[in-house]
Amino acid sequence: AKVLVTGANGYIAVWICRILLEKGYSVRGTVRTPSKGDYLKKLFEKEGERFEYVLVEDITAEGAFDEAVKGVQGVLHTASPVAMAIKHPDELIKPAVQGTLSVLTSVDKYGTEVGRVVITSSCAAILEPHEGGYVYTEKDWNDFSLHEVEQKSEKAAPIHQYRTSKTLAEQNAWRFEKEKTGKWDLVTILPPYVFGPLLQETAGKDSLNFSAQLIYDAVVTPKTGEALYSYAGKLEEAGGERIIVSAGYFAWQDLYDALSSPSLDPPFPDAPKGSSERGAPLIYSGDLCNKLFGIGFRGLRESARDTVFSVRERH
Ligand code: NDP
Repeated sequence: AKVLVTGANGYIAVWICRILLEKGYSVRGTVRTPSKGDYLKKLFEKEGERFEYVLVEDITAEGAFDEAVKGVQGVLHTASPVAMAIKHPDELIKPAVQGTLSVLTSVDKYGTEVGRVVITSSCAAILEPHEGGYVYTEKDWNDFSLHEVEQKSEKAAPIHQYRTSKTLAEQNAWRFEKEKTGKWDLVTILPPYVFGPLLQETAGKDSLNFSAQLIYDAVVTPKTGEALYSYAGKLEEAGGERIIVSAGYFAWQDLYDALSSPSLDPPFPDAPKGSSERGAPLIYSGDLCNKLFGIGFRGLRESARDTVFSVRERH
């Protein structure tokens, strides 16, 4: 079977492509420039024709994915801006929402073989402020960030602009799915921060994807799930579900503790000690994910170490 992965050169997406290829799928990735596609073609060289890339320069354009969805049986949509340094919410919201609708419109019109679409949403789409101890589930929606952006527009905090982009993109996807004409179904995956080693092309240690940058900066510049997508693409009962995929909760202090642990192999030489302030943790329910997939997650220590070592190795 062949799967389309949008934004194939992104941090999470390169892992998705690799795992799909390892599982025997053929992969067609969309990228915005030939050099990003060529990097992937080289990375997956040994897969030969099983990996191909196509250019989709503007994911918001009408019909952007009309050709890309032809001849694939599944679609994994990950392309969406993850950035906080923006001037206007539209820089995030437009590509997130219109990109999602553009993929779905093309699937509905031309993706005659597509059985399932999996969209990478985010815990950003459910993360409304609550009292400490609140357990977030797939029933939640982040109306708080929507309200912030509605009220304050570009003056809203960038984090709320990002969370709004993810919330609106996912809500629009479910709305579209209700009115679809095709035979495909939809799954949305909601991860919190994703950490782990990097496969994507990186220009330097100051231009990583957002979540890797966050952990790298927190640990090295102290100032302050893996086979899931292929399960999500196949498992029949997952159809129509939003699925939180969280290994648990953490405070930054847990990362410092993890990296300064003497049992870390190899030991990490200069992890900051932090302080004993932990703050209230964000707790996400893993019940549905466990019930459907029953997969384990890598621990915080391993993920933190792998992220930091992976950046150090490259840069
Ligand atoms: P990356 O920044 O590494 O990848 C983002 C991908 O989206 C890249 O392929 C990028 O292409 C593409 N993209 C970004 N902006 C646009 C745009 N305006 N038009 C077209 N394509 C665009 O991010 P991640 O891998 O971390 O994130 C992937 C997905 O996972 C996103 O949907 C994100 O919201 C979600 N997510 C990520 C989490 C994390 O902790 N990393 C947590 C929860 C959800 P290009 O390289 O050309 O810019």
